[in-house]
Amino acid sequence: MSEDRELKFYELYEKLASATQIVNQKPDIPLIESILNEISAMFRLSKGVTNFYRNPGEEIRGEGETMISYDLKIPGKPVHTVRFVTRLMSITTLTVFMAYDEAPLTEDELFKVDLVMRTALTFISRNRLQVIAEELAFYDDMGFRNIRSFFNYIMWRGQPGALDGMAALNFNLRHFSIVNDEHGRDAGDTVLHRIYSSIRDRIGNNGIISRLGGDSFICICEQEVLPEILDFLTEAKVPFNESGDTVTLSASVGVFIIPRGYAVQNPNDIMGRIMQAYNIARTGSQGHIVYYNDELVADRERAKRIQQQFPEALKNREFKVFYQPKVNTVTGEICGGEALCRWFRNGKIVPPMDFIPILEETSDICKLDFYVLETVCSDIRRRLDEGKNMVRISVNLSRRHMVNEHLLETIIEIVDRHGIPHEYIEIELTETTTDVEFKDLQRVVYGLQEQRICTSVDDFGMGYSSLNLIRVIPWNVLKVDRIFLPLDDEDSSSIRSIMFKHVVAMTKEMGLECIVEGVETAAQLAVLQENHCEQAQGFLFDKPLPVEDFEKRLDMRRYDINL
Ligand code: C2E
Ligand code: MG
Ligand code: MG
Repeated sequence: MSEDRELKFYELYEKLASATQIVNQKPDIPLIESILNEISAMFRLSKGVTNFYRNPGEEIRGEGETMISYDLKIPGKPVHTVRFVTRLMSITTLTVFMAYDEAPLTEDELFKVDLVMRTALTFISRNRLQVIAEELAFYDDMGFRNIRSFFNYIMWRGQPGALDGMAALNFNLRHFSIVNDEHGRDAGDTVLHRIYSSIRDRIGNNGIISRLGGDSFICICEQEVLPEILDFLTEAKVPFNESGDTVTLSASVGVFIIPRGYAVQNPNDIMGRIMQAYNIARTGSQGHIVYYNDELVADRERAKRIQQQFPEALKNREFKVFYQPKVNTVTGEICGGEALCRWFRNGKIVPPMDFIPILEETSDICKLDFYVLETVCSDIRRRLDEGKNMVRISVNLSRRHMVNEHLLETIIEIVDRHGIPHEYIEIELTETTTDVEFKDLQRVVYGLQEQRICTSVDDFGMGYSSLNLIRVIPWNVLKVDRIFLPLDDEDSSSIRSIMFKHVVAMTKEMGLECIVEGVETAAQLAVLQENHCEQAQGFLFDKPLPVEDFEKRLDMRRYDINL
């Protein structure tokens, strides 16, 4: 080797040695590659191939990872291999190739090539192990970032102000186990990966998503992308197989908006808040997306108190059933009634919105609903026994009942025990968003239908009204929410008026009865009449009344609607 080449080689080698020995900083990979390329050319090499095996078994089976670091893409033969075994028994090999017609390496050249290869190999092996160590430390067995990764992110970004205004989330998919049960574990895994990557893509570079385990995830994201993520989690259509079949899922989400100047001492501060919000979201009492705030804690205490008082209150018959008349818009006749629950507690009336959502957190609501149905049946029985006129009474059933396989039997048992002809009972149910709940709902409505018990979609228009919901399920009645009802000073060209007109027309065309809730004024009643919606319920006629007053209205039979 000429002196010049010798000098050039050692100069390159020294650069390589120092570039590969950096420990505390990220190594300059392009620099290292360019040095290796130059050295490879100097020694007439055509290709360099590295293999990495996590353990000797992988090496025997030839299952390692192969990386080609340098390739002139000319046919050649291997001329030298070095092999490096770490203390953890991972193995890295590096083989260099030369073109078939190239002059073989001299002894001196082989010594130098060997030296370079060992230096490179130590570096590659260390680097690979670091990646693996990171994988093990920061990812779980399904390839999702784990909680350590999340904590690491918070601490890394944790200097005052760095997380200001960002959103932290904890979410859990609802009824996810049914995906596994119905479509298999592979489909379940695919769904989890799709959800994870959809959110990761929405979060982008500024933020993180990690899995806590099972179907529970935590993330940090910019507030700008939060609405999009929450929309996705409200109704996520996720393909779970090659043919593109999808399942619709929703999640319960706890959100904490990180305030300005929030210096994170401990990632558990953030975790604690999103978990608290999530725990409420899980119950659904305040919707399935709950933002953390300090009042949340006070609300929790109030809810606990109500849950504690409930069994005693039920036993003491503190719950009373009120009835609100449903009125025929053409004749003014009372054509039905809705049973609505009131709680008489310490001389005060507690409105349903103050306790029903809390009872819905547990199965207490089911006990209350059955109690209301019992009361309704005994009220109807009494009136029928008196030989007086009676109308169909609707009872609200919480969605909580849907998972109860014996729901139908229980309803029938109560109704039949009182000897009530089924046509006097109607069951009101609210809309659902997910496939799983949809199926339960479908089963229940079909079952009631078979028993000639009417069913109605309550609050249509309030939630995520799905036309599919009313197409596929054989409802009898659609209860249009007052949200569709035009205001008094609204003219017939407003969006609300147009929607109202079409919802009523559609309902009738589908052969369903149509009733509008929350009719408060004569002008609103006129709108119903103009649109041929023949039933109304609202304060214009009466508020929900104690049973004696309701019966007086029944005796009276009709309201004067020529107002
Ligand atoms: P809902 O089933 O949609 O009942 C109609 C609600 O609208 C009732 O509220 C009723 O008082 C109110 N309302 C009727 N007419 C008007 C009006 O003209 N203007 C206005 N602003 N409101 C009107 P309420 O009785 O407070 O009940 C609220 C909700 O609580 C009910 O909504 C229902 O979802 C739930 N609920 C009540 N009783 C029961 C029950 O026994 N079981 C279950 N699961 N839920 C119940
Ligand atoms: Mg109702
Ligand atoms: Mg309603």
